[in-house]
Amino acid sequence: MIDFLDLKAVNQNYAQALKDACARVIDSGWYIGGQEVSSFEREFATYCGSKHCIGVANGLDALILTLRAWKELGKLKDGDEVIVPANTYIASVLAITENNLVPVLVEPDVDTFNISVSGIREAITDRTRVILPVHLYGCLADMPAIVDLAAQYGLLVLEDSAQAHGASLMGRKAGSWGDASGFSFYPGKNLGALGDAGAITTNDDELAKVVRALGNYGSYKKYENFYQGLNSRLDEIQAAMLRVKLQHLDIEISMRQRSAFQYRVGINNELLILPKVDSEAQHVWHLFVIRCEKRDALQRYLSESGVQTLIHYPIPPHKQRAYQGLFESEYPLTEKLHEQVLSLPISGMDDQESVVEVIKQLNKFPG
Ligand SMILES: *Cc1c(COP(=O)(O)O)cnc(C)c1O
Repeated sequence: MIDFLDLKAVNQNYAQALKDACARVIDSGWYIGGQEVSSFEREFATYCGSKHCIGVANGLDALILTLRAWKELGKLKDGDEVIVPANTYIASVLAITENNLVPVLVEPDVDTFNISVSGIREAITDRTRVILPVHLYGCLADMPAIVDLAAQYGLLVLEDSAQAHGASLMGRKAGSWGDASGFSFYPGKNLGALGDAGAITTNDDELAKVVRALGNYGSYKKYENFYQGLNSRLDEIQAAMLRVKLQHLDIEISMRQRSAFQYRVGINNELLILPKVDSEAQHVWHLFVIRCEKRDALQRYLSESGVQTLIHYPIPPHKQRAYQGLFESEYPLTEKLHEQVLSLPISGMDDQESVVEVIKQLNKFPG
């Protein structure tokens, strides 16, 4: 069986270094807010080309806390509109509604799966305050155009970079384009911890301070609470794991890019539509997503041929029970994509043999 992603094998590559880092934390006697966290924050900010990095508990909190900080800073208020792709993972939308802001869904570009820039322009109203592009599947959204549009209308940009650590365009990485960016280090992400973890990157000194305070009970000084904050901190142990894995991220990305290239060159079946990409570095292939009108039959066929695949995502946010009655418009392209997408096995390891096997099975898919 070819697994979709063998996380155990991924982490086994670094087993000794991870165990050593773990031992270092145990022996330090310091488990929250110490050396490992501040070192990782510095290292990841440098990696992204951003001034600040603030570690938090997970990727959802990274997005929630950033929007919340903008509210505390008077840049947003209840009811303001945030433009977000309709075909994203639900976390991007939850961060908006959690803050009593209004998500305005915009359909993607069918070729890249990323939010359509003309769609954003049409969705801007006098209540729009934020554009929240998602670098879906590891491909940077059209950030040059989005940043221009935001400047033209005086809007904030919050990148959802949860799937795009290291993706870059014109030499600028995910996490360095927006006013702020949220990252997830969920174990299955391209840079994954051994548990939940997340971070915010930003060049804005004031935002960085407020986000850090909000994630620490709203406190700048122990036992003095400036905001009604929450507890969302990156643990020392996860920071130590992430420091080990950050050192190997670029190699893992190049492995993913090689597998993606193999798929793009090797898959040749008119029933399948392959992902398009303008510039190679723009895409770090967190997911390799193909489209097929007979998606469910294809998934069954692959499973019977010993290839595990997943669907990202089966139900779009506006169709979720959680958002019943909230979205009145229709999102036909998003709905069509959710019926057609299928994610093939891909990882940061040398997967050449399994990729060849997956390609062989795909090219034999009779429909
Ligand atoms: C994973 C993910 C998140 C949330 O990250 P968690 O760490 O699981 O909270 C947010 N947005 C996108 C696009 C994601 O893929």
